[in-house]
Amino acid sequence: MKKPILIALLACSLCTTYAQSVILHCGSLIDGIGNNARQHVSVIIDGNRITNVKEGFVTGTPQDKVIDLSKQTVTPGWMDMHVHLDGEMTKEAFVDEYTMNPADYAFHSVVFAERTLMAGFTTVRDLGGANGVNISLRNAINAGLIKGPRVFTAGKAISATGGHADPSNSYRRDLMGDPGPKDGVANGPEECRKAVRQAYKYGSDLIKVMATGGVLSVARDGSSPQFSEEELRVIVATAKDYGFKVAAHAHGTEGIKRAIRAGVTSIEHGSFMDDEGIALAKQYGTWYVPTLTAGRSAADSAKIPGYYPAIITPKALTIGPKLQTTFARAYKAGVKIAFGTDAAVFAHGKNWLEFTYMVEAGMPPIDAIKSATIKAAELLGITDKLGSITPGKLADIVAVEGDPLQDIQRMGQVSFVMKEGVIYKNIASEK
Ligand SMILES: [Zn+2]
Repeated sequence: MKKPILIALLACSLCTTYAQSVILHCGSLIDGIGNNARQHVSVIIDGNRITNVKEGFVTGTPQDKVIDLSKQTVTPGWMDMHVHLDGEMTKEAFVDEYTMNPADYAFHSVVFAERTLMAGFTTVRDLGGANGVNISLRNAINAGLIKGPRVFTAGKAISATGGHADPSNSYRRDLMGDPGPKDGVANGPEECRKAVRQAYKYGSDLIKVMATGGVLSVARDGSSPQFSEEELRVIVATAKDYGFKVAAHAHGTEGIKRAIRAGVTSIEHGSFMDDEGIALAKQYGTWYVPTLTAGRSAADSAKIPGYYPAIITPKALTIGPKLQTTFARAYKAGVKIAFGTDAAVFAHGKNWLEFTYMVEAGMPPIDAIKSATIKAAELLGITDKLGSITPGKLADIVAVEGDPLQDIQRMGQVSFVMKEGVIYKNIASEK
């Protein structure tokens, strides 16, 4: 008696899996692999995966759902390799840290995550936050409780005492305490090892290390090295044990070189990367994540009197403008570049501005788009799942009005967002 019921159940589950495909009619398709857009292409999606890509507009069966993107350019979902989803810079941000609780940051991060997704970014690397908010945010998105991009998070960044991510910088002495590896502050190889293991314990997906000073920390120095090469090597080696990649924040020339030689996966910002640093990045196959939007935004904000604490202003004015010229040199030299903005330094959802600054600095629009799709997937080590619109990959798909290869500003006009086959935005259908 039981057998027929089982067969019926199986048949039924097959029906629900295969009954309805979603077919996107793409006016223009940038698939993440080719160097040109293809015209009039159908992308077929079953469940959360792309199952076929066909020339022309196919209609499928009567059950299939056709989505008309015939006046749009369709690309793989974009990936920003450098965001901080738990905050956003404002004039008040330096006071907020004394008044806001982790729960306040958590509620804000929900809004920032949704804004990021709706701007076309279906995957992000979150490179550091406080109190585990970014880890909880990732978990809530994965559980389907809130809308946001797929998040790979570093949890809390690892810093030396007084370094760019020492959470007690600038506090009154009696409030400073002495944060240690548990708080992401480490000195010497043993503490560096423990800080990585602690990050694993907290649930991080990767490691972020502050190899040099930074612009927006309330500290004097923005670019000198803050870890020895030995410490960086221990961090990289320990991270490897857990399958973690290491992203190194580095502005100054010496810190950049130490981080590359220590074997980090990516250099973030890289402001003062000299020719030797560029040659080393090529030799070691190190990724460069430029964050041009943050450089611009910080330099612009620094021109507003009183926007930043006085100790930050000169750093923002000297380091910010360096990024675009360094990026142009690194790109020309053939360094591997992945798209990353440092969103939080500027408003979440404006991540697309990075495309325009990359193009302004001499990168062709197609390469800028690839840096945010297939190249970013390479950095993350997930090209088997994401980064291109090809059969078998997860259905992360974005569309913009018009042709971004002719006018890169179009990247700011996102009309369609799909993540793992779920449609989050479809402006055409709302017209
Ligand atoms: Zn950052």
